[in-house]
Amino acid sequence: MKVLSAIVPCYNEEENIVDFYHEFMKNEAFFREKDVALELYFIDDGSKDGTAAEVKKLAGRDERVHLVSFSRNFGKEAAIYAGLEKAKGDYVVFLDADLQDPPSLLPEMYGYVEQGYDSVATRRVTRKGEPPLRSFFARIFYRLMKKISRTEIMDGARDYRLMTRQVVDAILSMGEYNRFSKGIFGWVGFETKWLEFENIERKKGETKWSFWRLFLYSIDGITAFSTAPLAFAAFMGVLFCLAAFALIIFTIVRKAIFGDPTSGWPSLVCIISLVSGVQLFCLGIVGQYLAKTYMEVKRRPIYLVKEEI
Ligand code: UDP
Ligand code: MG
Repeated sequence: MKVLSAIVPCYNEEENIVDFYHEFMKNEAFFREKDVALELYFIDDGSKDGTAAEVKKLAGRDERVHLVSFSRNFGKEAAIYAGLEKAKGDYVVFLDADLQDPPSLLPEMYGYVEQGYDSVATRRVTRKGEPPLRSFFARIFYRLMKKISRTEIMDGARDYRLMTRQVVDAILSMGEYNRFSKGIFGWVGFETKWLEFENIERKKGETKWSFWRLFLYSIDGITAFSTAPLAFAAFMGVLFCLAAFALIIFTIVRKAIFGDPTSGWPSLVCIISLVSGVQLFCLGIVGQYLAKTYMEVKRRPIYLVKEEI
């Protein structure tokens, strides 16, 4: 008998746990027929509400339910990694606790794995119900990533993925500290089938991703999967050297023809401000990569477990 492990990152999701469990278990009959056993790993990412208590209640009734509680909030990426480490199934799937990743899609996803695909990924084709500003920046981010990264990162991709043990082991072999799963999934490759669905709004509770948090996350994604900004900094350097060279020639010629080399104080101020701005910006880019390298070099654990059931 094969085992399908579902990993559910939860951060303050007490209202959703039971609903999720029932929705997920609707697939039980389908998988029993396929001779596949189900197990659930709720990764409590340092919730401050009754999430862990809700999961414990479920675990008391159903031994297929497991709980991993973090010592604090480590972020969804850490929860995904922890889930991968804990899950022992032949197949592993991630789902959000808020039912935005419909469990009813699982039989179809499993069908593709049976056909020989190594992983089945999902993407939402609409962003219905999302603030327009957020959708706008999300589009820009994906378009930019497409240009500057060689790793395939799909617009609208969800973390809702079903994968075989081989893919899971490949992802686990990437022990980096700055984790950007959408990039990691693309980086490991393998045969992936993409399913599309319309955006489903969160059933209960609130999103945990503020605009600012998403912005920082996008910078994580860029630095983790592209070094193009560094090349951009070098390019700016060359560009400004050329401009400065042209300016020198211009100044010399002007002096030779008209005299008075000391005029032009306002333009000098403008040039100095512009150039120092560009310099600081490029220094900032280098700083970002340095900071990420610093965090990586420390080799801190990606998460810490407080309790496990
Ligand atoms: N989540 C998490 N840790 C966090 C933030 C979110 O484990 O620090 C979980 C959350 O409980 C949910 C999933 O990640 O199951 C997706 O989060 P959310 O629904 O808030 O994001 P959105 O769907 O709005 O992008
Ligand atoms: Mg959600």
